[in-house]
Amino acid sequence: MPGFELFGDSEKAQVQSVLDTGVLMRYGFDGMRNGQWKAKELEASLSKRMQTEYVQLVSSGTAALTVALVSAGIGAGDEVIMPTFTFVASFESILALGAIPVLVDIDDTLTLDPAAVEAAITEHTKVVMPVHMCGSMANLKALKVICEKHDLLLLEDACQAIGGSFEGKPLGSYGDLGCFSFDYVKTITCGEGGALITNNEKYYRNADHYSDHGHDHVGNDRGAESHPFLGYNFRISELNAAVGCAQVERLDEFVAIQKKNYTVLKNQITGINGVTFRRVPAGGIANYSFLNFFLPTQKIAKKTHEALIENGVDACFYWFDNNWHYYKKWEHLTTLKSLGKLPNEVSERLPDYTKSDFSKSDHWMGRTISVLVKLSWSAEEVAERGQKMKSVISEIL
Ligand SMILES: *Cc1c(COP(=O)(O)O)cnc(C)c1O
Repeated sequence: MPGFELFGDSEKAQVQSVLDTGVLMRYGFDGMRNGQWKAKELEASLSKRMQTEYVQLVSSGTAALTVALVSAGIGAGDEVIMPTFTFVASFESILALGAIPVLVDIDDTLTLDPAAVEAAITEHTKVVMPVHMCGSMANLKALKVICEKHDLLLLEDACQAIGGSFEGKPLGSYGDLGCFSFDYVKTITCGEGGALITNNEKYYRNADHYSDHGHDHVGNDRGAESHPFLGYNFRISELNAAVGCAQVERLDEFVAIQKKNYTVLKNQITGINGVTFRRVPAGGIANYSFLNFFLPTQKIAKKTHEALIENGVDACFYWFDNNWHYYKKWEHLTTLKSLGKLPNEVSERLPDYTKSDFSKSDHWMGRTISVLVKLSWSAEEVAERGQKMKSVISEIL
């Protein structure tokens, strides 16, 4: 997945052109910048590639989620439905606004189970936030039907699946809002950066203002701008955006490499009795950043993971035991450890996750192994890796 593997001349040239003017900020300094607006340029490229009217670049994927939520008016006490399998940024962005993360089971797509989503809706629910983990997507069609029925927003976290699609639409563009991360280990990177996309002009305008202290960006005298509402600073720098300008042009090339490598690995382990694959919902095309498969039991999955690592199959993950990505290890969330006092809405109404039953999620995650698909492998390396996976897994099963 990581775009940093193929960091080359175009990235360097883009950064150099920013260094040549010395204007590292995305707003203002019109006279000095020699016509260069890297953040704007990247927003235009993303808008085109994602077939979406509006794009707001920000400083990270986590910032994109926060700004997306706030741009749609989400605040203290609002409930946001999110999956048990995701990155910690999901609940961080929700809690940052005093809103309440409502954890919901996943299914064999390794993303939100639509039936569990519907069962979790209350009078406070405002948003359903599917997270397209490890290269593939949630059943967006089913989730959209639920959101329309209950008048909820659909916010896609497409940070790990950029370049994939659903019913012909780029992932991130199917819901009301979509978010991407360009951190250092994502399919395309800016070093640090993120973006939200939407066809809703009001949300976009709110995001544009909010991410820059509430500045209205009217006129060309920054000091004289007014502030229609409170904001924050989630700006991206021109240096980061410049790297993104080079990388976004390579997105389709990167996805094609991932698909090629993924297919080699998948073919090797297809047909081994006991190995099954993560379900990709009908109408979906993954970005192939991970190969995700199930083993018959939790015990066998754990043992297989250990054996794969021992045999040199690195970048291989057993999320069930992972600190970052599965609810079981989110003790700081479940016991609400915060530096300062949290909003009353959160401390009083956050469900007691130490007592929750997520056995349906455990059923899938306990048996899941994910293998990262790299961009820089040679054909020989991929073939060797596939053969190694086949022999290690066959031996155990
Ligand atoms: C990386 C990631 C984020 C957050 O992105 P940052 O740019 O690292 O803040 C959010 N959600 C998912 C699923 C991610 O993988």
